[in-house]
Amino acid sequence: MNKYAIAIHGGAGTILKSTMTPEKETAYTSGLRNAIEAGEAILKAGGNALEAVEAAVKSMEDNPLFNAGKGAVFTNTGKNEMDASIMNGKDLTAGAVAGITNIKNPVSLAKEVMEKSEHVFLAGQGALDFAKKVNAKFESDDYFFVQMRHDQLLEAKKTDGVFLDHTEDKFENGEKKFGTVGAVALDIHGNIAAATSTGGMTNKKFGRIGDSPIIGAGTYANNKTCAVSCTGHGELFIRSVVAYDVSCLMEYKGLSLKEACDLVVNDKLVKIGGEGGLIAVDSQGNIELPFNSEGMYRAKKTSESELYIGIYK
Ligand code: ASP
Repeated sequence: MNKYAIAIHGGAGTILKSTMTPEKETAYTSGLRNAIEAGEAILKAGGNALEAVEAAVKSMEDNPLFNAGKGAVFTNTGKNEMDASIMNGKDLTAGAVAGITNIKNPVSLAKEVMEKSEHVFLAGQGALDFAKKVNAKFESDDYFFVQMRHDQLLEAKKTDGVFLDHTEDKFENGEKKFGTVGAVALDIHGNIAAATSTGGMTNKKFGRIGDSPIIGAGTYANNKTCAVSCTGHGELFIRSVVAYDVSCLMEYKGLSLKEACDLVVNDKLVKIGGEGGLIAVDSQGNIELPFNSEGMYRAKKTSESELYIGIYK
């Protein structure tokens, strides 16, 4: 059988062992395991990378621990506005949604945009109208109410700050991390894909959108190079066009996946203050999980190697 590979992230940022309880660590670890297993099951059965990344991301969207889907953070007006994107490295098709509410699995809606519309990126009410047309699954506001997230909003409102679900010295409960989820995969047919989904920033206003739904910034996939999903300070990741930059360094400069990831995450992003990380896979099944923050919830698995799950540096 040809090789398959999958990697996932559940957000990056200030994740310190000192602020983590053993119970929470176990919960995050099993959330990551469930997600990667959902994706791997598809790859193992000969399914394609696109379905695998969707399945892995959906699993984390359904888990209230991660800032995406059910666990999405609250906006300033008490809503859960979500962003997601997906890209197929085989033919460079892509789909994305931004600023959507009440959609159970934003990543699946992004995939519907890719497969059933003539567009790449739909936002706000228009995206919701499209969701109705394709019978996407909606959930009530209650479904998205997670107490810990609401507490974070109240905390953020005290200082009128806008927080990336992580910001140091702001939340005392250990929830200091970037929150977003993502997956990249290589299937046995030699195709790669990437997907990313997020609730964005706690207390965000004015329809703020980060890098996660932006093809080239938060997500990118091209069979010629690599598939990438990012997590971190979205504004800086947009300005750095992070995911496409990794791909370009491979395509135009001949860098290896590792060299490209190192240069972007540990040099270029650091120089402009872009905290966070990414996951990437190339068409040979090499995986990189670089981050310049204190930690990143991450996991990887290939047909030839054991499951790896990591949280801290
Ligand atoms: N990149 C996401 C955003 O800026 C947040 C994150 O990764 O935590 O919306």
